[in-house]
Amino acid sequence: EVNILWAAHQVHHSSEDYNLFTALRQSVLQKYTSWMFNLPMALFIPPSVFAVHLQFNLLYQFWIHTEVINKLGPLEWILNTPSHHRVHHGRNPYCIDKNYGGTLIIWDRIFGTFEAEDEKVVYGLTHPVNSFDPIMLQLRPLTHIWNTFWATPGFCNKLSVIFKGPGWGPGKPRLGLPEEIPVITGKEVPFNPIVPAYLNCYAVVHFAVITDLYTELLATVTTLSQGTVLLRICFIILSLASFGLLMENKSKAGILEIIRCLVFIGVYKLGYFRGQFPFLGYAYEV
Ligand SMILES: [Zn+2]
Ligand SMILES: [Zn+2]
Repeated sequence: EVNILWAAHQVHHSSEDYNLFTALRQSVLQKYTSWMFNLPMALFIPPSVFAVHLQFNLLYQFWIHTEVINKLGPLEWILNTPSHHRVHHGRNPYCIDKNYGGTLIIWDRIFGTFEAEDEKVVYGLTHPVNSFDPIMLQLRPLTHIWNTFWATPGFCNKLSVIFKGPGWGPGKPRLGLPEEIPVITGKEVPFNPIVPAYLNCYAVVHFAVITDLYTELLATVTTLSQGTVLLRICFIILSLASFGLLMENKSKAGILEIIRCLVFIGVYKLGYFRGQFPFLGYAYEV
């Protein structure tokens, strides 16, 4: 592991549930770090072949985020299966730094990073974030590196904070000390604060409206000015942050949500928001 790359990838691992939505939970930085793994292929793979396979590779890695499929017989030897990828997402000590393969698991078998699924996998980060706030989830890994960078004395040590493993510290091996990985008791429960049922319904309806706005934005992005696109993206991020705080039952979540709704009503009445799906128009008016 390289700390700065892990900072980009750990957003994907921050989910403490394991389902298809986990596959969609990605860092905004992911695409700025993946290229360095693809670059060597430029030497011997034609760009058109690469472009097609990149999409297949992406699609393949979607469906393996599930607990519904147990084992797939002989395919487990060759392919990265749901079982193998569950291990990759685990925070049990036996799961750490294992099963990196995307489509094929043979690479992990060859390079010694393979681990078969054994005791029940507890998903998520070794130090859980305990938040549904997407801004926090995206930025926390970077602020952690930033703080550790300045708190660590010595220029070489500072570089090590960035380029060695996330568990590294002065005097420790590159990947940190295995005994510092928190022990798993099996009684861990995913972060899931209790919120009233009406709040759950409210969040689902408003999430549908925001998904609609996002779909519309994607469909019309080439016809919009950069300023409009930026404002819409900011509004979508604000909305997701607000829903996250509501689902955490945070006391100040209501204030942020009222501000968000007022912004929405104002901009919608001025005609700047249009939906892709007319049936959601009722929700807009409510
Ligand atoms: Zn994954
Ligand atoms: Zn991963």
